[in-house]
Amino acid sequence: MAQDPNCIFCKIVAGTIPCFKLYEDAKTLAFLDINPANPGHALVIPKNHAPNLVASADDDLAAVLATTRRVAAAIEHALKPYGFNLLQANGPGAAQSVMHFHMHIIPRVQGDDLKMNWGLKPGDKAALAEMAKRIKVV
Ligand code: AMP
Ligand code: ZN
Repeated sequence: MAQDPNCIFCKIVAGTIPCFKLYEDAKTLAFLDINPANPGHALVIPKNHAPNLVASADDDLAAVLATTRRVAAAIEHALKPYGFNLLQANGPGAAQSVMHFHMHIIPRVQGDDLKMNWGLKPGDKAALAEMAKRIKVV
C-alpha cells in the first residue's frame, strides 16, 4: 500500500486519526467531510496514496468510482437530496487542499446556491456522528 506519512488521509486509512466512516473495502475508504458543504457531504478515497487524478492508478480509480456509486446510493436512500454533485479538485489552483486523491459527493439542498469554492466551515461533531449512522452503505 502506497502511503505518505505526512498525508492526513493516509493517517485516516492507517487509523491513526479518526473519521466518520461510511464504508471501507480492500481498495477504498469513504467518510464524511469534516467541513460539510451540505449535510451528508462525503469523501471517497483510494487507500493507496496518490496526490491527484493524473498520478492515480487505473484500478484505484475504478474502485473509487464503484465505491462512489455505493455511497451515493446510500445517501439518496437516507437523505433524499434534491440532487448530488461529484467534485474532484486537482492542484491548489482548483482549491485542492488535501493532496491525496479524493472524490467529493455533495448532496444538494433546493436553493442552496452552492458555489464550487464553498469555503471550509467545521461541522458539528454530534451531527456528523448522527449522519454517519443514517447513511447505511450496502
Ligand atoms: P479538497 O479541498 O478538494 O482538497 O477537499 C479536501 C476536503 O477534505 C475538504 O472538504 C476538507 O473539509 C476535508 N477534510 C480535511 N481533513 C479532514 C478530516 N480529517 N476528516 C474529514 N474530512 C477532512
Ligand atoms: Zn495520502
